[in-house]
Amino acid sequence: MITINEREIEWVPDETVLQAALRAGIAIPHLCAFAGSPSPQAACRICMVEVEGTPRLQTSCTLPARDGMVVRTHTPRIQRARRTIVELLLASHPDDCLFCPRSGDCELARLAADLGIRGRRYAGLKKSHPLDVSSPSVIREPNKCILCGRCVAVCHSVQGVGAIDFTGRGFETRISPAFYTGLNVSGCIFCGQCIRACPTGALTEKSQGEDVIRALADPDVMVVAQVAPAVPATLMDAAEISSITEMLETLSGALRQIGFEAVFDTSFTADLTIMEEVSELLHRVKNGGALPMFTSCSPGWVRYVEVHRPEMIPYLSTCKSPQQMMGALIKECYPKQFDTKGRRIYSVSIMPCTAKKYEAQDLGDIDAVLTTREVDQLLRRFGMQFTPKGPRAPLDVPFAEATGAGRIFGGTGGVMEAAIRTAHRLITGEELKGGPKVSDARGLDQVKVFSLDVAGTQLNFAVVNGLGEVKSILHSVAQKTSPLHFVEVMTCPGGCVGGGGQPYDTDREAIKKRLHRLYEVDRKSASRLSHDNEQVKSLYKNLLDQPLGAMSHHLLHRSYLDRRKG
Ligand code: SF4
Ligand code: SF4
Ligand code: SF4
Repeated sequence: MITINEREIEWVPDETVLQAALRAGIAIPHLCAFAGSPSPQAACRICMVEVEGTPRLQTSCTLPARDGMVVRTHTPRIQRARRTIVELLLASHPDDCLFCPRSGDCELARLAADLGIRGRRYAGLKKSHPLDVSSPSVIREPNKCILCGRCVAVCHSVQGVGAIDFTGRGFETRISPAFYTGLNVSGCIFCGQCIRACPTGALTEKSQGEDVIRALADPDVMVVAQVAPAVPATLMDAAEISSITEMLETLSGALRQIGFEAVFDTSFTADLTIMEEVSELLHRVKNGGALPMFTSCSPGWVRYVEVHRPEMIPYLSTCKSPQQMMGALIKECYPKQFDTKGRRIYSVSIMPCTAKKYEAQDLGDIDAVLTTREVDQLLRRFGMQFTPKGPRAPLDVPFAEATGAGRIFGGTGGVMEAAIRTAHRLITGEELKGGPKVSDARGLDQVKVFSLDVAGTQLNFAVVNGLGEVKSILHSVAQKTSPLHFVEVMTCPGGCVGGGGQPYDTDREAIKKRLHRLYEVDRKSASRLSHDNEQVKSLYKNLLDQPLGAMSHHLLHRSYLDRRKG
């Protein structure tokens, strides 16, 4: 047992005092430690506690919990020290709360309020580092940085990228790419995981909300949207709406109220991706193509390959992501089938991802990408709220239908599971024995490796989420020793439900809840197989002809660049 604030708590070996306290529901304020943190840093020192028999205050994030320990977390001495630390952080912080993108949702401001800081006791020098707006996805505002190190930990240890680090000394210390360059010329893959980890407005997405508002007011423009599967699964966190389908229709209804004229379901092009990607995989297996084939729907991962491991380009599927497939189809098909009254189509995608902004800029066809955070803010600007009583609208044909397989694209393992369902049918003519669920592909382990016997041939698969663990697979592929046939890689931990455009938190429980919602909608779907999507079938009949055909190649496939060469 350990005792915290006179409460006895079961002692669990290998826990820190902070972890033990949080497990017991005792809130110790902290800034540099965060859920998903690879290792404690004791950088902010706000989590300090008193331990009976020890004179010094100690940081609870680094202090191993010991059986019999007696800890206090909020004595007057601790509160004085904690308050002083935060006051010193604020001394050099800009007085910008009213205009800050994190206004109303800032951990630093919340902490200051919780500690009762209502005035400035110390007037320090203000930092004046330049704003970095060079990236298509992420804005860095170094003057709001409190040097907690969360972004560095995420970028290095969770994502294995290392695009940013501490640079300089003393007052000049800051977080930056090497040589103080912009993020656009660093190794950054625009995943936005650092944004979700940052407790302040020092890292935010590059918002396109104002562009969309201008387009909505333009009489020469017809604004349409597509919505990715992880978005409704996330907006349900705050809305009292209990099904993804209902949430999607409520979002569609709200978007129509503010002037969007059609709303499409990106899960439709997820089903289409499966038709193309599985056909490509089978073609490679039959014809001795580059194996394993890696999925290409996660733009952070694609950029990682192009910038850091271009020798892996031949292994990437040539399929565009569902976002880009939808973008190409909207511009190609919609004006031919529907009367746009001579107006230009302005295509907005609503995504859980900041790297999709980069992808849209790189490949075209999409005019603006709004993250889950941005669409929530946009609708608030128009006074809209998600409630069960809000207006609802069905999604729009010809891209409205989605199977359960398309919906689970929003979570780690979803693409793999959907692909296996369809691959099994294409190879054997039969559905998977025991039902469509592929349990081995599910769960939050960073790497899942498994095999399946399909018509007497063993096929080997891997599912990776968070790029930190992909390197061992890349190593074996480079050594030509990999037994794998197909690898799903999602840049963000948990897949898109944990994307860089999702709400500011790194809470695994929230990610699990969203994954569960995706699996529920799949379980209840009338169709759970991408190849049974009737609208996809009709698209092939009327336009594309067949997977990997000439029209598919033109609209749905892409090439890659070795970006290491600049
Ligand atoms: S980061 Fe937080 S404390 Fe700083 S200006 Fe923005 S809202 Fe205010
Ligand atoms: S966006 Fe991703 S790669 Fe870029 S600095 Fe942030 S965590 Fe690192
Ligand atoms: S940019 Fe944000 S996460 Fe990174 S060190 Fe500064 S405050 Fe912390």
